[in-house]
Amino acid sequence: MADNKGILVVGEAAEGKLLPITAEILGAARKLADELKEPLNCIIIGAGLGDTGKAAVAAGADKVFLADDAQLKDYENSTYMQVMEKAVAELAPKVIIMGQTANGRDLAPRLAFKLGVSAVMDCLELAIDGGKLQCTRPVYGGNAKAIFTSEAVPQIATLRVKAGTPLVPDAGRAGEVAAFAVALDASRIKAKVLETIKEEVAGVKIEDAASVIGGGRGMGGPEPFTKELADLAKILKGAVGASRPPCDNKWVPDSIQIGLTGKIIAPELYIAVGISGSSQHMSGCSGAKCIVAINKDPEANIFKEARFGVVGDWKVVLPAFTAKVKELVS
Ligand SMILES: Cc1cc2nc3c(=O)[nH]c(=O)nc-3n(C[C@H](O)[C@H](O)[C@H](O)COP(=O)(O)OP(=O)(O)OC[C@H]3O[C@@H](n4cnc5c(N)ncnc54)[C@H](O)[C@@H]3O)c2cc1C
Repeated sequence: MADNKGILVVGEAAEGKLLPITAEILGAARKLADELKEPLNCIIIGAGLGDTGKAAVAAGADKVFLADDAQLKDYENSTYMQVMEKAVAELAPKVIIMGQTANGRDLAPRLAFKLGVSAVMDCLELAIDGGKLQCTRPVYGGNAKAIFTSEAVPQIATLRVKAGTPLVPDAGRAGEVAAFAVALDASRIKAKVLETIKEEVAGVKIEDAASVIGGGRGMGGPEPFTKELADLAKILKGAVGASRPPCDNKWVPDSIQIGLTGKIIAPELYIAVGISGSSQHMSGCSGAKCIVAINKDPEANIFKEARFGVVGDWKVVLPAFTAKVKELVS
């Protein structure tokens, strides 16, 4: 392991396109590789990977390996692990970075266990210090951050969605794309995906929206989410999100929960209505460029995090606020 070199990013693709998380990781990893003066490789696992290799080079990779096989169409840990075991054996990376996505959350600890090394999950920042990867991640439910490193090689980390900044894609970047064939051992495949149900999203997804209007327990029920919050989201061409209680109470689908156990968002504008601002909620929206809070409790924690705040009952504040925004954008 002493001769291990370079960074290996585990990229993700869907429907022949590189997912944004991969460009975010490559953007962050490019700086680390330059600092190490070692190569930045990327492996993309899936089926019908098309031009994803070229896209990964344009996003910063030096060499991209495409494990493109019909049997790898859906994420399944026993097949993806076989690809990763071969990749680690042949490429001998010093550092492996995945996204803190459904795939990365499952694959990183399994790979670390198999290799007898550690995995630092849900990192907010990655840096190099003394030739080693330093991983900053939230601890104590998002109330503090801690920096981890490890002696074992390869060092494995997952990077949180939106924590990395993609490079401006450069189609002229020099790089190589190569096929990475793996003879999958069928006897190791213990499960298969029978059906994939696409999440129905009307309008823009909260993780992609430039403006998010979040509602909390203080909304009092499901109606304001489809009326007052949706009206404001429509004017701002944004999306409606929620804290955990509205999801737990089935006022809104779980897919719009923001926070530690929900989605991570980093919009230009986050308007939090009737949300107290718990650390678990804030850990999902602290990347927002501007937070605006509407809450009737002047002591609510959200006001410590917000750039602008209105103390008052949302039933009074929100209609006037929405009317003003409508006037300004029309
Ligand atoms: C392991 C774990 C994971 C968790 N993960 C998440 C997560 O991912 N996301 C998440 O959000 N939470 C999460 N939680 C829950 C979290 O601890 C809080 O309980 C939750 O965020 C509180 O949601 P809230 O702010 O909507 O509700 P509350 O804390 O009850 O706050 C409601 C707010 O609404 C205000 N309000 C009430 N009526 C009005 C009104 N008419 N007008 C204006 N303001 C009003 C109140 O003043 C209050 O501040 C998690 C908890 C644990 C233990």
